[in-house]
Amino acid sequence: MDFAPSPLARQLRERLLAFMDRYLLPYNAAWHAAVQAGDYPPPFLQDLKALAREEGLWNLFLPTLQRDEPGTRLNNLDYAPLAEAMGRLPWAAEVFNCHAPDTGNIELLHRFATPAQRTAWLAPLLEGRMRSAFAMSEPDVASSDPTNLQTTVRRDGDDLVISGRKWFITGAAHPHCRLLIVLCRNADADGADSHHRHSMVLVPVDAPGVQIVRNISVLHQHAPEGHCEILLQGVRVPAGHLLGDWGAGFAMAQARLGPGRVHHCMRTIGQCELALQLATERALERTAFGKPLADQANVQEWIAESRIEIDQARLLVLQAAWLLDQGASADGADARQVRAQVAAIKVVAARLQQRVVDRAMQIFGAMGLSPDTPLAALWTWGRALRLMDGPDEVHLRTVARHELAQARAGLGASAAWFTTPEQLRAPPHLSA
Ligand SMILES: Cc1cc2nc3c(=O)[nH]c(=O)nc-3n(C[C@H](O)[C@H](O)[C@H](O)COP(=O)(O)OP(=O)(O)OC[C@H]3O[C@@H](n4cnc5c(N)ncnc54)[C@H](O)[C@@H]3O)c2cc1C
Repeated sequence: MDFAPSPLARQLRERLLAFMDRYLLPYNAAWHAAVQAGDYPPPFLQDLKALAREEGLWNLFLPTLQRDEPGTRLNNLDYAPLAEAMGRLPWAAEVFNCHAPDTGNIELLHRFATPAQRTAWLAPLLEGRMRSAFAMSEPDVASSDPTNLQTTVRRDGDDLVISGRKWFITGAAHPHCRLLIVLCRNADADGADSHHRHSMVLVPVDAPGVQIVRNISVLHQHAPEGHCEILLQGVRVPAGHLLGDWGAGFAMAQARLGPGRVHHCMRTIGQCELALQLATERALERTAFGKPLADQANVQEWIAESRIEIDQARLLVLQAAWLLDQGASADGADARQVRAQVAAIKVVAARLQQRVVDRAMQIFGAMGLSPDTPLAALWTWGRALRLMDGPDEVHLRTVARHELAQARAGLGASAAWFTTPEQLRAPPHLSA
């Protein structure tokens, strides 16, 4: 296994960091001011996007882009350090057209869209001319188990008709959001097994019957792009808006999440690095009881633990990125192992973010809870991460099931490690 980024990825990372220092950080206060004033997206975002594209820092995430599609075609391992760099500033990824949930939606459309769907939705997303959202979760059912979903789609002549309620749909309040990719239960699903009952439908946000009910705040923080509750009342779209096959929605939703989780986790690691950087500087500068906070043993321990945990997590995420790049047969790994590894990084990264940011907030004292540092927002995001894209417990279940399946396949292999009275009485004799 070799996790070293390619020369191109190293060069892109340096250019990306320089771009962020030169163009994005100076706009950070203006971005927050614009959002507070309800002026979202801020007018300068478009100019920054144009500049990033001009400099070749555009669609950095998708290895399978075709020749005529804009982007760098980096693999997951090479993209990972770039995602980490972008994670430091919550609005940076959009400047480079690398923001969730559009990245995951672009991957979905790239794999499954028809030529007409590519023209209508994929091309403008790759150009950064529109935004999209992925609508799976529902208020009325436990959505960590997508087989529960109740929003239905039925065929009616040449149309599909969708009814139901979704919530926490990220990106749906963005003024440029044009498309919802809606995971629905097929009205004729009875009889199909639970993993073939769902379909994905491309629903224009302005289709009659689509109502954005509210933008739900997360721990009282309002994301301007939204985590929205959406009502779908008899929404009618042409049958050509079905994405992929009828009944294949569940498998497609699974496929969407692999690289997307690596992106999320690497952005998280970037945020943890930022929290640690802020905390260490503060500890050096702030004096209490006659010495800098950095001289206190407990503060040193927090700093050391954060460094060790961040580095551990990064290695695990890079390994997952590497496995995804190698494909299912990598290093003897099968698809299930890759899935377990991707589940593991999601748990590790979300928990890491809470721990590292919490320590940083403690070092900052009251200021750490104020809006004057990024820490409170970063902690909230870490908390949310433990639920979005599936709660920790579901991912732990995936990891445990993989481990148990391996143990089941080799059942009995551990017998040699026991020292039973029988073995003690009759030790083996070496034979020539
Ligand atoms: C900020 C944010 C953004 C989001 N963005 C989106 C989005 O863009 N699109 C979208 O569709 N959804 C989105 N979600 C929703 C998210 O995907 C769901 O909240 C998540 O899948 C859990 O579903 P649920 O809330 O219905 O919890 P439930 O399914 O009701 O689960 C509740 C709890 O039950 C426990 N649990 C569940 N299953 C198991 C198990 N097998 N073993 C042990 N314990 C278990 C867990 O502790 C879990 O937290 C977002 C959520 C947040 C917070």
